[in-house]
Amino acid sequence: MATTPPEPLPHTTAAAPLCPACGNPVVQITASVEVQYQVMYESHKDELSVIGEQIGDGCWDDRAPATCPNCGWHGEAHALQPKAP
Ligand SMILES: [Zn+2]
Repeated sequence: MATTPPEPLPHTTAAAPLCPACGNPVVQITASVEVQYQVMYESHKDELSVIGEQIGDGCWDDRAPATCPNCGWHGEAHALQPKAP
């Protein structure tokens, strides 16, 4: 019976303070996602047409901009300091 419990959802009542300014448990992190397009040239339209797209994994690093919707704090993701409840 050595199963690992699933990660708690971020908006459960067990959420810990996260914003370094006001302790709000929810902050927004802005990250970018890489998209690869497959294109082909359609001579009858004289333009490139997108025939497929592949969206990469979205993730952020320590330098990603973070914002607290509660107090307006702006910083970088590494400044977030989750504390165990
Ligand atoms: Zn805050």
